[in-house]
Amino acid sequence: MNAPFHSLHDPATPPIVNGLSVDVEDWFQVGAFENVIARDEWDAIGMRVEDNVARIIDLFAEADVKATFFTLGWVAKRHPVMIRRIAEAGHEIASHGYDHARVFTFSRREFAEDIRKARDILQDAAGVTVTGYRAPSFSIDHRTPWAFAELAEQGYAYSSSVAPVAHDHYGWPEAPRFAFRPLAWSSLIELPVTTAMLAGRRVAAGGGGFFRVLPYGFSRWAIRQVNRDEGRPAVFYFHPWEIDPDQPRVAHAPLRSRFRHYTGLARMADKLRGLVHEFRWGRMDMIAHREAARAGELPAASSSAAEEIAA
Ligand SMILES: [Zn+2]
Repeated sequence: MNAPFHSLHDPATPPIVNGLSVDVEDWFQVGAFENVIARDEWDAIGMRVEDNVARIIDLFAEADVKATFFTLGWVAKRHPVMIRRIAEAGHEIASHGYDHARVFTFSRREFAEDIRKARDILQDAAGVTVTGYRAPSFSIDHRTPWAFAELAEQGYAYSSSVAPVAHDHYGWPEAPRFAFRPLAWSSLIELPVTTAMLAGRRVAAGGGGFFRVLPYGFSRWAIRQVNRDEGRPAVFYFHPWEIDPDQPRVAHAPLRSRFRHYTGLARMADKLRGLVHEFRWGRMDMIAHREAARAGELPAASSSAAEEIAA
């Protein structure tokens, strides 16, 4: 008897497990509002992240999926009970840095301090070892040749901090599209956020605003392309504030920032529900482990930045 939901796959090969991740920050901590809401105002703003994370934990439980929550140290410090709840539900707690400063704004020493501080808070709250890191706004790129070396020296197993695509706010278009080892001397694995190939060009397809703004069919097409045609796991991400249509509106932010932040909020939870049921998902540390098992096949970064690091 054929199970209809397996019909797309060769029965001999189980469907690919994709990496599911949530970047845990509140609605006012995003890059889009960084010039309108200062960090020293954050504590005066009502936080909504805890309720939104609780809804996400329920949504994942409905589909019986486990995911990775890349969490700001700033948030974990104020919500240690939420961190424990995430971990107790079987999800991975990983680091998103302390307060969302992008990696290319740091010196190496400042970066080292930022990730150490965030990790200490997360580990204290969760009672587990943090082995994964995602740079705020995918801000590891050609400007930060020391970032992977610092992560490796601090004992991280993987990073998911590169968007291998050209974008106005972020991106490292020359980076590999799939898992790679950025350092010759370390087993550290980078799992770039998913891109798809459309008319010979890389397009961002790993979530965030694209998932919210574009029809669901685009993400379905992109993940199928990556899984079926390329035989690789997708890496997908979203934010807790994206399922919160009732969040306060920032009237004095630029129009484009507001469009990006507010479009599609009401439909987001249903779209996510469809996504987590349609594909197979797992924690990023598990994806990193599986991708590392292909180690012999994994390319080293070919960019000059990687050569600088290895030198
Ligand atoms: Zn973020």
